[in-house]
Amino acid sequence: MAKTIDLQVNAKNISDFKRGYPLILKDAIINSDVLTKEGSIVRLIDRDRKFVAKGYYGIQNKGLGWVLTKNENEEIDFDFFESKIDAAMARREALFADPKTTAFRVFNGEGDGIGGLTIDYFDGFYMMSWYSEGIYSLKHYVYSVFDKIVDFKGIYEKKRFDTKGKYMEQDDFVKGEQGDFPIIVKENGMNFAVNLNEGAMTGIFLDQRDMRQAIRDKYSKGKNVLNTFSYTGAFSVAAALGGSINTTSVDLAKRSLAKTIEQFSVNGIDYEQQDIKVMDVFEYFRYAKRNELKFDLVVLDPPSFARTKKYTFSTAKDYPALLMDAIAITEKNGIIVASTNNASFSMKKFKTFIEEGFAGAGSKYKILEESSLPKDFRTNRDYPEFNYLKVVILQKLK
Ligand code: SAH
Repeated sequence: MAKTIDLQVNAKNISDFKRGYPLILKDAIINSDVLTKEGSIVRLIDRDRKFVAKGYYGIQNKGLGWVLTKNENEEIDFDFFESKIDAAMARREALFADPKTTAFRVFNGEGDGIGGLTIDYFDGFYMMSWYSEGIYSLKHYVYSVFDKIVDFKGIYEKKRFDTKGKYMEQDDFVKGEQGDFPIIVKENGMNFAVNLNEGAMTGIFLDQRDMRQAIRDKYSKGKNVLNTFSYTGAFSVAAALGGSINTTSVDLAKRSLAKTIEQFSVNGIDYEQQDIKVMDVFEYFRYAKRNELKFDLVVLDPPSFARTKKYTFSTAKDYPALLMDAIAITEKNGIIVASTNNASFSMKKFKTFIEEGFAGAGSKYKILEESSLPKDFRTNRDYPEFNYLKVVILQKLK
């Protein structure tokens, strides 16, 4: 193992670490130039060289790594990883026991005590996502813990950092039995086809489970539904299962057509009775306006950033305009599900975008529900910045 490196914390950041802030920001460290090898264990110390916390060096977004413990005597070793993973699995006991849900997050990075690593469960298969070279270099601990305490069918992994061509593996399979993909997982009784060995995305974003349930159970019966940025159409499936009259799914990516057909089909829904458009959402809004189409339920779940030939879209800048487009084709008393996974702004800020959008459209609204990450996406309550998901369900009043 690499040797421990002392990092001196800026005076003004000491109290943050003492309170439990987990991310080692570059600006918080005076001597970050001593860092050379990702995966090194670092000791954060104050000006008097007194111990503050221990963590690892791994470059990720704006951070240099993550705090792992505030206990000077705790070693970062097999036992450490075992205790964190064991505790995380225990917290999800109710989900493991629920036969209606077989896909969820079992380990959520810093929320479960190890920043830079997430683990998702898909009906016996596990998918590890490694967010830096640093945490990836500690993976042997995680895999040996799994060998010891987890009963798995198979393990897959995604490297979500710049590998600079360093790893030559052909696929994401790690060990155990290989999945016969797509496998069908369940979520509150809905089926979803998932592939763990097909690039960055699996076919379903697990963090929207509560919203899919809400759409199915409360908002879609007898409704004409538009699902924008629909990806594999998971929200459309939820709406159709909830008794919608029709769903229209719009996504620019060509693969979304086959994927959406697949998600409808594994739920016994005739996809030919649904509309699936491979199209730019902004073009679709214009088309809908021209043809005076109106919807009772509109789902807006854009990526944080998107660049197409014609536009660049950023939720932090363009959400009010996106809402104005959606409001124009929503029926009076219709529902808009406004969602964003952009971590750079808060729920409070998001609500100002909503207000701006409705003001711009000369319309009025009422908030029916708001929510963020589901329980399995465990986050530290003191640091809402790690709870990136914001969903507001609105009713258009006029
Ligand atoms: N709402 C989806 C996840 C959306 S992921 C779900 O619940 O599963 C973001 C999607 O937006 C991607 O599939 C991407 O292809 C699509 N996308 C990005 N820009 C777009 C645009 N301008 N028009 C249509 N789709 C777009």
